[in-house]
Amino acid sequence: MKLRTDIVEMLQQGAHQQDIMRTLHVGATLVVSHREALHLPAPRRGGTPLRPIETEFHARTEHVDGGHLRWTGYHANGVPKLGRQGGHFSAYRIAFGLLHTREPVGRVRPGCGYPRCVEPTHLEDQTIRIQLRSQMAGIFGGTS
Ligand SMILES: [Zn+2]
Repeated sequence: MKLRTDIVEMLQQGAHQQDIMRTLHVGATLVVSHREALHLPAPRRGGTPLRPIETEFHARTEHVDGGHLRWTGYHANGVPKLGRQGGHFSAYRIAFGLLHTREPVGRVRPGCGYPRCVEPTHLEDQTIRIQLRSQMAGIFGGTS
C-alpha cells in the first residue's frame, strides 16, 4: 500500500490516533493500517503519550567513527531490538522508517560493512539492494 507522509510523520512523532484523525481529517482505519505497515505498537488507551519512536531509538544508539551508528540496546538472534509496550521491534526496521516513508521490502540490513550498524542511511532493504546492483552494473558493466 502507498503510505501518506503526513500520517507517517505524526505516527512516528507518537501522536495519538484521535489527534491524527482530527488534524489530517482521516479515518481510523487509515491510521491503523499505516501504524501496522510501520510496525508501530498500538496506542495505549488513556495512558500517557508514548515517547516518539525516534527518541526511543536515539536513546539506544551512539555515533562511532566512519559515520556509523552503534546500537547500545539489546540484540536477539544477532538483530538489534527495541522493546516497546511489551513488543520487540527490529531496530533496523525502525531506523529504516525514520528515513523512508515506504514499508521496507524483505530483510533490512546494513550495507556499509560495520557490524549491526543502525545508521538509517546505511540500511538497505531488498528494493535498495536491487537498485544499487543495477547502478553498479551500469557503471562497471557498460561498454564505454
Ligand atoms: Zn554504517
